[in-house]
Amino acid sequence: MNTISDVRNLFPILNQKVNGKPLIYFDNAATSQKPKQVIEAIENYYSQYNSNIHRGAHYLANLATEAYEHSRQVIAQYLNAETQEINFVRGTTEGINLVAQTYGKANVKAGDEIIVSAMEHHSNIVPWQMLCEEKGATLKVVPIFDSGDLDMEAYEKLLSAKTKIVAVTYISNALGTVNPVQEIIAKAHEVGAVVLVDAAQAVQHKKIDVKALDVDFLAFSGHKVFGPTGIGILYGKRELLEAMPPYMGGGEMIDNVTFEKTTFNKIPYKFEAGTPHIEGGIVLGKAIEFVQEIGLDFIAEKEAELLHYGTQKLSAIDGLRFVGTAQEKCSVISFLVKDIHPYDIGTLLDKQGIAIRTGHHCCQPLMKRLQIEGTCRASFAFYNTAEEIDVFAKALEKSIAMLS
Ligand code: PMP
Repeated sequence: MNTISDVRNLFPILNQKVNGKPLIYFDNAATSQKPKQVIEAIENYYSQYNSNIHRGAHYLANLATEAYEHSRQVIAQYLNAETQEINFVRGTTEGINLVAQTYGKANVKAGDEIIVSAMEHHSNIVPWQMLCEEKGATLKVVPIFDSGDLDMEAYEKLLSAKTKIVAVTYISNALGTVNPVQEIIAKAHEVGAVVLVDAAQAVQHKKIDVKALDVDFLAFSGHKVFGPTGIGILYGKRELLEAMPPYMGGGEMIDNVTFEKTTFNKIPYKFEAGTPHIEGGIVLGKAIEFVQEIGLDFIAEKEAELLHYGTQKLSAIDGLRFVGTAQEKCSVISFLVKDIHPYDIGTLLDKQGIAIRTGHHCCQPLMKRLQIEGTCRASFAFYNTAEEIDVFAKALEKSIAMLS
């Protein structure tokens, strides 16, 4: 396998026309497309063993429970975590909110500080802001350079005994910047802070070893790593998860309930109240197995080629400027052309069958820092091709000519 047409054949959605033109899907940072294995796994679940898990003593309940717990093991191995450190959540957003509302509520007090970076997605800003407001704590922001690189010296200066949590993205969805998370984590630990890494844009591109990183919490979404929407993972160090209060109350997260007092289940079930997204949990494991079959090295190599080629191709376009030129980038190219509104470019590209993202990419504070309203963003996955980039560059030039 692994010729590009073999790879593309695994993704049925790619083989279609949009507005009469072959679809070119360059919005992979928003959500990835799904391979046949994932689509079939969803169908198999509902046609063969749909059942509620952990409760029933019957055949189907056992099959579904085993598949769900097997998936947890697959994901744990993928991240080099312990199985009970893997919590199924709805996605990155819920994972971050969970930590803010449990660990945060229990450990952050008035006068404490929480550090985020200037390039965070709203989902890694707002939960911390809400916590700070509630507790009388302060949100501090690590600045970035115009290139989109984090200012690590400024970060070190912000760290102090007051810092309780550092929450930072591994890879910026808006700029493609790959942050030096290992160093960020080590420095935060020197002042006794815990670190949450937003890995929404990282798991699908990079090998992540939570033990080697020594990260305290890490969250990602299934839909960005070729799996379903509505499911994601929160990794937490066992001793932290065990000490944290529960998040939501309900079935499954309890040990014993009386009207006087409830005791809670052990981790990870303590954080999984109610009937979970069973199909999503099972199929996320299949998506991770798919990534392992394709191989992260293959993925990284293809995406690096596309980033390099795309950057070269677009830099030849008159009036185009890149937004985000960090030293280490993943396969995201954000750009602006002259004073044309990104939305107008996106709309004209769509007419030519090309899907890109335009706007602030849920990073309004970052856009404010860069003094822009938004960008056009092309984000590549390993199933994209240099030929698609050629078509995209031509279509972009045509759109610019129409809008100038
Ligand atoms: N963080 C980053 C860096 C993201 O790119 C995204 C999704 N765009 C999120 C967090 C939020 O992910 P979700 O909406 O899947 O919870």
